Amino acid sequence: MGEEVTMEKSLRPQLFSQYIGQDKVKEQLEIFIKAAKLREEVLDHVLLFGPPGLGKTTMAFVIANELGVHIKQTAGPAIEKPGDLVAILNELEPGDVLFIDEIHRLPMQVEEILYSAMEDFYIDIMLGAGDGSRSVHLDLPPFTLVGATTRAGMLSNPLRARFGISSHMEYYQERDLEEIVKRTADIFEVEVIDNAALEIALRSRGTPRIANRLLKRVRDFAQIMGDGRVDKAITDKALTILDVDNEGLDIIDQKILKNMIEMYHGGPVGLSTIAVNIAEDRETIEDMYEPYLIQKGFIMRTKQGRKATKRAYEHLGYQWDHEE
Ligand code: ADP
Repeated sequence: MGEEVTMEKSLRPQLFSQYIGQDKVKEQLEIFIKAAKLREEVLDHVLLFGPPGLGKTTMAFVIANELGVHIKQTAGPAIEKPGDLVAILNELEPGDVLFIDEIHRLPMQVEEILYSAMEDFYIDIMLGAGDGSRSVHLDLPPFTLVGATTRAGMLSNPLRARFGISSHMEYYQERDLEEIVKRTADIFEVEVIDNAALEIALRSRGTPRIANRLLKRVRDFAQIMGDGRVDKAITDKALTILDVDNEGLDIIDQKILKNMIEMYHGGPVGLSTIAVNIAEDRETIEDMYEPYLIQKGFIMRTKQGRKATKRAYEHLGYQWDHEE
């Protein structure tokens, strides 16, 4: 298991009470879970959407823990054929949670099997081929599907319609991220001075996964260049060396903006063009970079394409030479 994977597992909150932030999502889910338990029914299917690293997987595990059931975890690209899904569904016990990450990447024939599984807890599968083929009906135990996706818009309508609960995960507030950094520091047994925790929070693009990763790197600097304590000075130094600027933009954010400004006079320019220019995957830019740049007011989405804003020009030290 990679170090990062082990770290993510050990850091995962287990219950709502340990899950910091996302108050709206938590409040709603807590009520739905209590009601389902009261009625002794399975929880309705839950769709979680939001950028990577915001805690969707963590939330799926919390849901299962709060329900007191087992969870099976898989991902859209891992389920290649209907048979793969049938094998997974077949192993579920009544009430279990099935977590499918990147659910928008399920192949169509697999997705179609999910419809009846989600709605009425059965599947019809074709066995054999040609004249000898026959349809087999398989009843399933009632279960809760928790699906995660980076963009709700990528889900087909029939699939989306089968989720009774749909929760939008937001970028985290600074004070929540600060708390997450402190919690992680406790688990790592590293001392973090308050204003250093806040600084890491401010530069983490609203994302717990990034906050935890930055803390880990800053801890390395503190151990080698200081006395092991993470203070503001070490944090500033480490984050500068790591190319994370004071707005939390990393080297790729900066490349995106610079490319728009230097080659296209700030745009409008299409996302695919930017992706090719900076040799990054379009989907990565769309899922991970663009939403944050838009939220921070560095990019505007227009009908003609993306435009860099005055704020982007000023932040990167370019002269703003457009009409207001
Ligand atoms: P996603 O599935 O949305 O990509 P994850 O659930 O894998 O995100 O979370 C990424 C990392 O951030 C994990 O290490 C997790 O422990 C941590 N994390 C996410 N949300 C929280 C939270 N609310 N409180 C504390 N840690 C969190």
